[in-house]
Amino acid sequence: MEKLEQLYEGKAKKVYATNDPDFVIVDYKDDATAFNGEKKGTIVGKGVINNRLTNHFMKMLEENGIPTHFVKEISDRETVVKKVKIIMLEVIVRNIAAGSFSKRFGVKEGVILKQPSIEFSLKNDDLGDPLINTSHVLALGLASAEDIAKIKEYAFKVNALLKNYLLKFDIELVDFKLEFGKTSDGKIVLADEISPDTCRFWDVHTHEKLDKDRFRRNLGGEEHAYQEMLKRVIGD
Ligand code: UDP
Repeated sequence: MEKLEQLYEGKAKKVYATNDPDFVIVDYKDDATAFNGEKKGTIVGKGVINNRLTNHFMKMLEENGIPTHFVKEISDRETVVKKVKIIMLEVIVRNIAAGSFSKRFGVKEGVILKQPSIEFSLKNDDLGDPLINTSHVLALGLASAEDIAKIKEYAFKVNALLKNYLLKFDIELVDFKLEFGKTSDGKIVLADEISPDTCRFWDVHTHEKLDKDRFRRNLGGEEHAYQEMLKRVIGD
């Protein structure tokens, strides 16, 4: 497969066309942003780690019945994925209160939720990714009722699978963000990434943060945290 022109550059990844219209190549960067792009920096080695971890998780999920965009890792930072039309929603699943959930509902960080929760945000940086409900999603034509049902089903399944999987490495899955897309034949698949940029991972015993919160909150040690995730999950 040939890597052709750049189609898009996001905050953490670039996307390139290929000689096959059904496939694109994603290229992971070390650039880090937080608070809707207000805080900018670099986490050395992040691109490589997020590429490898995302692909590892996507493969595990595929093996367990979740359709994903993953096709093939072609280098440290580059992966071939199916070309999809992204559904403009951030799908957030939570097991433990943290971040905006804690702030919005006045619940202490670390409180275990009675059951996993799901919420949607509109993927729109100019608007600051506002929370959106399913009635709004339908009214705006962002997705159909059928699409929403599938997305919820997949998101909760991903949560159950990933949560159990990570426990083997003494990692607690606090919360995470997913994005879904539609392939040219209309199938909904899991897209984007699953990494310390998009998930909160805590050590089971010490509750040490092993994710982007170290960067967001100026805790330091973000490079080490990303490396630790790679080491625990993939083993190098
Ligand atoms: N998240 C993300 N991208 C966003 C917003 C959130 O990947 O634009 C992830 C974040 O890493 C966390 C989860 O979604 O794992 C929930 O984030 P939250 O709503 O608590 O927002 P935050 O506190 O990060 O602003």
